[in-house]
Amino acid sequence: MLEGISGSLGWDEEEFRRLGHRVINMIADYLSALPDGPVFRPFPEELSTEWARTPAPQEGEPADAILDQFSTEVAPYPFGNGHPRFFGWVNSPPAPIGILAEALASAMNPRCAGGNHAAVYLERQVVEWFRQLVGFPVGTMGLLVSGGSMATLTALAVARHAKVAARGGNVRAIGLQGLDSPLVLYMSEEGHSCIRKAAELMGIGSNYVRIIPSDENYRMRVDLLRDQIASDADNGLLPFAVVASAGTVNTGAIDPLTEIAQVCRDLDLWLHVDGAYGAPALLSERHRSDLQNIALADSLAVDPHKWLYIPVEAGLVVVRNGEAMRDAFSLVPPYLRTDGNPRGVNGPPWLSEYGFQQTRGFRALKIWMALKFYGAEGYAQAIERNIAQARYLAGRIENSEELELAAPQNLSIVTFRYAPPALRGHGEVLDSLNKALLEEIQLGGKAFLSSTTLKGRFALRACIVNFATSRQDIDFLFDLVRAQGQALRP
Ligand SMILES: *Cc1c(COP(=O)(O)O)cnc(C)c1O
Repeated sequence: MLEGISGSLGWDEEEFRRLGHRVINMIADYLSALPDGPVFRPFPEELSTEWARTPAPQEGEPADAILDQFSTEVAPYPFGNGHPRFFGWVNSPPAPIGILAEALASAMNPRCAGGNHAAVYLERQVVEWFRQLVGFPVGTMGLLVSGGSMATLTALAVARHAKVAARGGNVRAIGLQGLDSPLVLYMSEEGHSCIRKAAELMGIGSNYVRIIPSDENYRMRVDLLRDQIASDADNGLLPFAVVASAGTVNTGAIDPLTEIAQVCRDLDLWLHVDGAYGAPALLSERHRSDLQNIALADSLAVDPHKWLYIPVEAGLVVVRNGEAMRDAFSLVPPYLRTDGNPRGVNGPPWLSEYGFQQTRGFRALKIWMALKFYGAEGYAQAIERNIAQARYLAGRIENSEELELAAPQNLSIVTFRYAPPALRGHGEVLDSLNKALLEEIQLGGKAFLSSTTLKGRFALRACIVNFATSRQDIDFLFDLVRAQGQALRP
């Protein structure tokens, strides 16, 4: 029945079991072969051309043939994250139990807008566990979303609504059209681009996003933040929220959360913390104290699909004042009314009242299973190990003649460049040398780095969010960068 679809989307149990076993074997083969294959190779041009030309299928074909095509055309060209020597951007391998959870979740295929079914309660439990981890009070609400960008957009929409409501306005009714003065949002120059995208989408406009300079450690300058807010208020603008980073994507810097929270309290601004990458380091001994004042925020974004190794997509937004979240989003047509009856059909307040999405996937299952499987202790160990690996890499770079750190190492991010003594101080030469070096490494398939720009200069960047990475992989990377640098230097 699964072999082609003639008239019905057939369910043939025997055939499904056979195919399922084949798929599980394909997954296990794929995962076990990964470390020995290239980290990355570009998708073949012939194939992308062919795909672009292939018309939509008219007749069905056998599932085995489709799986064969997956094996030869899709599986060999992954993004690269999954490999123990992938250090690009902020991308982790998938926790194996999360892979299985994805299949189970789609077997149940609930829509998690709301209702009185298991997935809804599991999502609430996952949110509750994160509430406890980050130290938010009872009354907090949260949602699983696609990622840090959507978490930030959701949180800032709540902030916008709450801050205008506190002044007697109603953004939901009049939009920004009827406000007397423009809203202003604050972030550091190291803040993530999703903050600005959110501001643009919410009608605040990027001209009203103030970019606060950072200090030599890439942390927001709180004195300048305070000055900027004061001057905007003097000029009749309406400062409403600050976004602080708990682990910037460039260097892993953690903004001074305590001081920023104080500014927000003094001046009555909403504090959103972007912990998309860094917040899970709360579980680590080393960074717990740096991060514990996340608890002072009004809202937080965390990406379980980053340093908690959950398969994408898995983002989380938590908002200290859960009712403010509902006020900002709840719009319940008669056919979605909750009955609040624990034995009824509709269950507790619908999750769709707390965010923009109505139909929502069963993201909670993979997170719930992974949290249960590893426990806080298992995660703490894996995260500590990634941090130790970053420190080790930074140490080797510091002790080397030919490489230099580009910024202080933070969390599990190391930024650096190949800079032999004869070329130090020759910024442009080093920029082009390191760009060439990066391309050789990325296309060489032996390890994968990404890059960034720090204080105007190009830098290589390694972010270690991988439970499969070993000390030897770090040594391998170091040796590879040095060897490539030596081969390319002018
Ligand atoms: C990844 C990231 C984001 C954006 O999150 P997505 O999951 O990609 O939408 C925002 N901030 C930081 C610090 C990040 O690392």
